[in-house]
Amino acid sequence: MLATSFYQETAFINALYIVAFTLFIVGLSQVTSPLTAVRGNRIAGYGMVVAIVATFLYPGAGNWVLIAIGLIVGTAIGIPSARQVKMTAMPQMVALFNGVGGGAIALIAWAEFREYNGDLTTLEIGIPLVFAAIVGSVSFWGSNIAFAKLQELIGGSPIKVPGGVYLNILLLIGAVACGVLILTGENEELLFIGILVFSAILGNLFVLPIGGADMPVVISTLNAFTGLSAAAAGIALDNTALIVAGMIVGASGTILTDQMAKAMNRTIPSVLLGGFGGGDAAAAAGPTGAEGGTVRSTSAADAAIQLAYARQVVVVPGYGMAVSQAQHAVREMSKVLEEKGVEVKFAIHPVAGRMPGHMNVLLAEADVPYDQLKEMDEINGEFGRTDVSLVIGANDVTNPDARSKPDSPIYGMPILNVDESSSVIVLKRSMSSGFAGIDNPLFVNPKTAMLFGDAKGSITDITAELGNL
Ligand code: NDP
Repeated sequence: MLATSFYQETAFINALYIVAFTLFIVGLSQVTSPLTAVRGNRIAGYGMVVAIVATFLYPGAGNWVLIAIGLIVGTAIGIPSARQVKMTAMPQMVALFNGVGGGAIALIAWAEFREYNGDLTTLEIGIPLVFAAIVGSVSFWGSNIAFAKLQELIGGSPIKVPGGVYLNILLLIGAVACGVLILTGENEELLFIGILVFSAILGNLFVLPIGGADMPVVISTLNAFTGLSAAAAGIALDNTALIVAGMIVGASGTILTDQMAKAMNRTIPSVLLGGFGGGDAAAAAGPTGAEGGTVRSTSAADAAIQLAYARQVVVVPGYGMAVSQAQHAVREMSKVLEEKGVEVKFAIHPVAGRMPGHMNVLLAEADVPYDQLKEMDEINGEFGRTDVSLVIGANDVTNPDARSKPDSPIYGMPILNVDESSSVIVLKRSMSSGFAGIDNPLFVNPKTAMLFGDAKGSITDITAELGNL
């Protein structure tokens, strides 16, 4: 009788889990388009509620008081921080959330080790738990470093670590060795703590030397790590929802890593082994602007005249547009230009901004028609017949050194070829460098005029001047 009721309960829970991950998958498929993204996010959220409820229904779910405290603390921190976070700080927030996921998985693995009194010799449980502890811990600490880089608590440039890759290999061997000892019958808790400590140092040292333009690849890799560690924990706990959700995150993170690496013209191993990101060149260049050359500055009135008499204008948005929240002003300006018969297109570089899809999200929010958004491959052929490229707070993604300077840290990264257009207007506040911390010769190109100031203010001024023409 008891067995039947247990069976019925777990069958019901599994049915709820199937509902939950169906909602995850439907939600994920909808976030692929800006039109349906908000709905997709909500659907995936409902899926998470179903998964949490199903887990609570599990016979012997655990200490209800502790669970309630966890829920209250998590909700109290999560809701206000998600509501208050500025759009520009979203990438850091995503890095933090990702890290917290990995950390939680590492702690679950530790709790399970204690639950089994250190006996993890049943390999179908032991191996996934050791894997979850190593990968979850690496993801937690690596994501913290990524957060610190994006928040500019530490520089975005690569930080060289003595011993480099060899030290990382030794740390990995240390963590795996502790795991193997546990799997073969040693039940000392110190060994499990050893796994966590080796992996923690590895997570820090793995991300520190990667920097500059390679950060997007690392961030998506850490995302995949968290997913894989969750799936492994799901196998050990025999929890279907965790396996499926973990595999979805792991698979999407892996695909994103591959896409980001291709967009940067890197191979994944070369990024992860810190082969690029060029610490020396980045450090040597400094943040003081383009080396040599004359900088020509312009005014909003002159920029407006140039734009008004153009046949085709390509707007190139970058991180600075996100910082100044200029997307609505940009949309207004583009409408005025269109009314004057100018054809306006938007060039989207895959790593512009600070998170994948950053520019698409901002421009969609400002109702820029999707058919005006052009991916890099599509727009690069058009710069040759473009009268004015209007670069709004973009820097690294337009840097011609990526094409021509082999010792540049971004050498080989495909860029938007704005310097092929008849003229270029760059909107930024100063001659400061972008994320990669390097000079940009575009700014001293004779075709280029700089309009210094906050992007939103400059665009608003240009639009006002357009109205006077
Ligand atoms: P960059 O970081 O190269 O440059 C942004 C520029 O915006 C700066 O030079 C800055 O100059 C300017 N800026 C900042 N605030 C304002 C403002 N209020 N008004 C006007 N301008 C402003 O940005 P890109 O988008 O060109 O390149 C993205 C970089 O970030 C790449 O190196 C990429 O690898 C990296 N990255 C991308 C991630 C992603 O997933 N997309 C993730 C992590 C890193 P100034 O201070 O003079 O105004």
